[in-house]
Amino acid sequence: MITIGRYEIRSIVAGTLRLDGGAMFGVVPKVLWQNVADVDDSNRILLATRVLIAVDREAGRTILVDSGCGSKWDARGAQRYAIHYDETAVPNALESMGLGVGDVTDVIITHLHFDHSGGLTEWYDQPGGPTQLRYPKARHWIHKKHWEHAKNPSPKDSGSFVPEDFSLLADKGVLCWIEGDNPACEIPGMEWFVSHGHTPGQLHPRFTGEGSSLLFVGDLAPTVAHLRLSWLMAFDVEPLVTIREKTGVLRKCIDDSLMLAFPHDPTVGGVMIEGTIERPIVSRTLDLD
Ligand SMILES: [Zn+2]
Repeated sequence: MITIGRYEIRSIVAGTLRLDGGAMFGVVPKVLWQNVADVDDSNRILLATRVLIAVDREAGRTILVDSGCGSKWDARGAQRYAIHYDETAVPNALESMGLGVGDVTDVIITHLHFDHSGGLTEWYDQPGGPTQLRYPKARHWIHKKHWEHAKNPSPKDSGSFVPEDFSLLADKGVLCWIEGDNPACEIPGMEWFVSHGHTPGQLHPRFTGEGSSLLFVGDLAPTVAHLRLSWLMAFDVEPLVTIREKTGVLRKCIDDSLMLAFPHDPTVGGVMIEGTIERPIVSRTLDLD
């Protein structure tokens, strides 16, 4: 755990999955990425699905960022992506902080790809039936542009969205919309950063206080290996925009000591960075366990 301003912050591995290594590294050849990834016989690399927990005890606020793949997968789907979801991970982490699932006040949805939003809902009684919210009392923050894109995705990324992960959110009236590229944030000690390269309207929280700052970098840089500018996912809808956005983030890391928390690195929750934008070097691994 680290403390930033008013927040105690942890990164919890809520499960793992495997995605095609070529798709995860775009134009980077396998002879390079195979040295930094755990590859299986089907060319799939191991990824964690991380949930960031940020607790402001003074304000009585417990924030979750993303939710993992969730438990609604049938055997065929789970096998395709080697999905393992630990539904006890977040409750156990909250319990170790003296909190429960009912204390979650805010859920930040970076975007609605299934590996980030699947854990927002679960089956109500039986697979294939109605779903229910895992955090029914929490406000669920999402960028409006992304919500609209998820309801009408392009042929390129439609496979990344599973409507039953998120359609209930609108029916239950728990959504809080964020709009525009520089939105104000009403949550104390937090700011919003919005990116569009990986997917339109990806929403990133940035926690700040007393000279330190941590950004949940989301799928702009899913793992440590993706810090390099040209190491981006083939999934990105606008790769050159991702490079521009990643350049801006790396500049803040190097010039202003901005810390990053990753969504998918199997071993590293977050880092500090030095070096140059072209050759970023991890100067410190954050203790976010
Ligand atoms: Zn994504």
